[in-house]
This record gives sequence, structure tokens and C-alpha cells, in this order.
Amino acid sequence: MKASTHDTFPPVAGGLDAYELYVWFQLYFLCHDCGESLDCPVADDDIETPEGEWMRRNAQRARSLGWYVHPLSADGSLTPICFCPGCAASRHLVVPQ
Ligand SMILES: [Zn+2]
Repeated sequence: MKASTHDTFPPVAGGLDAYELYVWFQLYFLCHDCGESLDCPVADDDIETPEGEWMRRNAQRARSLGWYVHPLSADGSLTPICFCPGCAASRHLVVPQ
């Protein structure tokens, strides 16, 4: 399902906790606008996947690459919305580093 350009999202991406929950839930990052994906390969020593080190590593990687993940809601639940760096920029969304 493609997002309408009229949709509005919080202008600043969520914290690492939002990225961790997102990748734990989705197993990779998928842009809501253009469908670009950021794969999160599993290494031989990722015994806890999708939790633990794998989750933290890929959350940090996506955030440092400029991927936007919707902030968690006040009760800590996930809104599974994510944008690639290009689509985040065209929506004027900010990913703090
Ligand atoms: Zn995109």
C-alpha cells in the first residue's frame, strides 16, 4: 500500500528503541514510499536473531544511513512506518545522528 503524499508523520525519527522494535518486527527495513529495502543479513554468530546484538546492530546501521523510522507511541507500541533516506529527505523528515 502506497502512502499518500497528504499523510503526515512526526518530523523527527524515533530513537534507537523504535528502530530496534521495527527491525525485530519486520526483520529488515522497507521504505513505505518507494519500496526500497535495507536487508539485515544474519551472521553465523547471531544466535539470538532477531533479538540481541543483531537487532541493535541493524537498528544503529539503518539510523546512521539516514533511514527514518516512525517514533514509538506514548505507550511504547510500534508504528511500522519506515522511509529510505531519499524519501525521508523529500518528506523533510529528520533523522538525528
Ligand atoms: Zn524510499
